[in-house]
Amino acid sequence: MCPHCGEINNAYKLEGKTTRKGLYECAGCRKKEARFSIINSANIYVRFFSTRTQGDAKQMPRGVIPRQPAKTGRHEGARSVPRGQQSRGTSRQPRSGGVGIGGKGPMATGAPGTAPAAQIVRAIRVAKTKGYDPLARERVQEILKRLDQQYPGATCALQHKNAWQLLVATILSAQATDVRVNIVTPELFKKYPTVEDFAALKPEQLEPDIQSTGFFRNKSKSVVGAAKKIVSDFGGQVPDEMDKLLTLPGVARKTANVTLGTWFRKNEGIVVDTHVTRIAHRLELSENTDAQKIEQDLMKIIPREKWTLFAHQVIWHGRKLCMARSPRCVDCPLENLCHAADKTWSTVEIHRNAKP
Ligand code: SF4
Repeated sequence: MCPHCGEINNAYKLEGKTTRKGLYECAGCRKKEARFSIINSANIYVRFFSTRTQGDAKQMPRGVIPRQPAKTGRHEGARSVPRGQQSRGTSRQPRSGGVGIGGKGPMATGAPGTAPAAQIVRAIRVAKTKGYDPLARERVQEILKRLDQQYPGATCALQHKNAWQLLVATILSAQATDVRVNIVTPELFKKYPTVEDFAALKPEQLEPDIQSTGFFRNKSKSVVGAAKKIVSDFGGQVPDEMDKLLTLPGVARKTANVTLGTWFRKNEGIVVDTHVTRIAHRLELSENTDAQKIEQDLMKIIPREKWTLFAHQVIWHGRKLCMARSPRCVDCPLENLCHAADKTWSTVEIHRNAKP
């Protein structure tokens, strides 16, 4: 609109040269304005007017700021471009390689290297509402395949020589690093070689030996209590069934799954620790926050024979590349399958809900 009389833009008549700063005269009030043309991110021409009139270099009053086009391109007066008729400019280009497995990736709807910004936004919406299924069989299979390639034969990082040692090491690993536990356990098992030795202890006697793993009072009670129950109820042998393992003090599904899967080679469930939780969320394999529900979600989409291996691979992935802070996405074999909101580098769209 003319800032003086309110005439619409088309009423301006070109008077000067056809340059970016040509002079225009309002057909209504006959006042002159310098016009600027710019191109916004969606390649739409936007007009706005300078604050000076010809022959009258009067400044705009202090504090009055001329309107600027919105960065989103949704500013007043921007014309909408019919779908499919957007000009192919050099403004924003889609990132390459964004097609997920089976062509269901969020970039599948756009021609690589040509879509303007508005089209990219549309592509994201389409991908999230239709077509894109993070639990699609092909996608999950591809994730498993790449994990196999990256972490062949992954296994538990806790040092152990028998089921009892593995059980103790797993109890001690809560809120502690495997490295710390592996420093503590060799001395511990040298001092108390058998489950009966642990069963004969009072929790306070064990505390100094495991203090450096943290939460040592509770852990002492759990280890001594588990030893007593194994000696009294299971003849000194660590049971190889989920139900029985869950009766031991300090043993929940995570510890039971580690023991069953790693020592007894039984796929009774999937270990869900902090790494598995974080990566399941980043890869959109589960939206739950409760460990048992995450385990149930994963058990539905991972083949049973892979449950133990998958957990170990994901735990290694969480340690090596997909750390809680600053994941090394640029080196990640799952990169173009991952839409995590906190990725540090990406060739695909980010899904805001894919949070760790
Ligand atoms: S791309 Fe990044 S966030 Fe996604 S799994 Fe790989 S390391 Fe983790």
